[in-house]
Amino acid sequence: MNAEIIAVGSELLLGQIANTNAKFISSQLSELGINVYYHTVVGDNEARLLEAIKIAEQRADVIIFSGGLGPTKDDLTKEAIAKHLNRTLVFDETALFAIEEFFSKQRRPMTENNRKQALVLDGCDVLLNQHGMAPGMFLEENDRIYILLPGPPKELEPMFQYETKPKLAALLHDGGVILSHVLRFYGIGEADLETRIQNILDEQTNPTVAPLASDGEVTLRITAKAQNEQQAFRLIELKKREILDIVGEYYYGVNDESLGFKLVQMLLENELTVSAAESLTAGLFQSELAEIPGVGSALIGGVVTYTKEAKIKHLGVSGELLDEYGIVSSECAAAMATRVREKFGTDIGVGLTGAAGPGDHDGQPAGSIWVGIKIGDTEPLTYRLQLTGSRNTNRIRAVKFTFSYLMRELANQGYKKLI
Ligand code: ATP
Repeated sequence: MNAEIIAVGSELLLGQIANTNAKFISSQLSELGINVYYHTVVGDNEARLLEAIKIAEQRADVIIFSGGLGPTKDDLTKEAIAKHLNRTLVFDETALFAIEEFFSKQRRPMTENNRKQALVLDGCDVLLNQHGMAPGMFLEENDRIYILLPGPPKELEPMFQYETKPKLAALLHDGGVILSHVLRFYGIGEADLETRIQNILDEQTNPTVAPLASDGEVTLRITAKAQNEQQAFRLIELKKREILDIVGEYYYGVNDESLGFKLVQMLLENELTVSAAESLTAGLFQSELAEIPGVGSALIGGVVTYTKEAKIKHLGVSGELLDEYGIVSSECAAAMATRVREKFGTDIGVGLTGAAGPGDHDGQPAGSIWVGIKIGDTEPLTYRLQLTGSRNTNRIRAVKFTFSYLMRELANQGYKKLI
């Protein structure tokens, strides 16, 4: 089975928004093993949309439309498809009821345009919209599947995941299931990880194993096909064990678990507190941790000391040390970690200093970063990074690497690592 995605919307062609829906749908389809051969973008113009549909029909079994299901005149996706397939549009009672209720609750008059959103292609399966008014549509006709989804990603994504994907999977696998798990690793490069598990990658059939790299971490997607979810889960678990036997020391979590989440779990489990003194990341380390619920028992506080003077005045780092070694130095990172730990009375102190870029900073090249970690009474440890990204990417990566260094060091010192 192969698919084409047709994103409808003039704002996409004008460069006002990026076609993230196509990206999302493509990655979801790849999990199902459906190949996407074409992404098409077409403006809010009926003639051109009809042309795009005819072209897609010559080369795709599944045609997925995003956008143009709203109430305004330029929203014309379902009207164009109805015309093309010779289908009428009929009111979906559930969607109509939800729209009417929304307007009565808001005490706002409902116009005919709003009612229009509840119109669906006659004979289609209606896809529920949990986050908006326009329902989606799933239609099988002439050995082809037409799927219509709303434009806003917060509506489209859950509608695809929970309403559309199971239908496609059922059609594809005759009632069987496909299950994917993403294993997450830190502290190892993509190439190194691939080399170590080369045999597994070469031998794969079911489950399949695919490496993916993202900022500062490497992930492996394991996908299994089976008669039911339990069997698929078992296949994944067996393959996971095989992989972790080889690279288990770099593994930290599964699916959406972030490094920050795992670090916070580890801090809480070991009843450890942390504070941070940040220069180039200017609070990002703390902000990322603060995204994790429950972190309040572990993250006590911290300071942003961006300039040399702030490091001396507010953190108490010695001016002589900074004169001798510079701001972007192992000594500065260690002193920041040590001083912030004392200041906040925490178990762990973290110091981050460096040249975010694009230019040099204090004689050090862009991307040159030092991370200091002080755990209890042990000597502070420092780590050097030489990153090559843009200013902001370097700041984000510095935080991710710091999370991984901290987890690794805590594990080395015998603290419990949660997997
Ligand atoms: P609405 O009821 O909000 O009008 P719709 O189904 O008619 O929804 P559009 O009007 O085409 O969809 O787009 C609504 C919004 O959804 C756009 O302004 C944009 O923010 C977002 N959007 C549309 N298409 C895409 C896309 N391909 N990728 C990412 N975002 C998109």
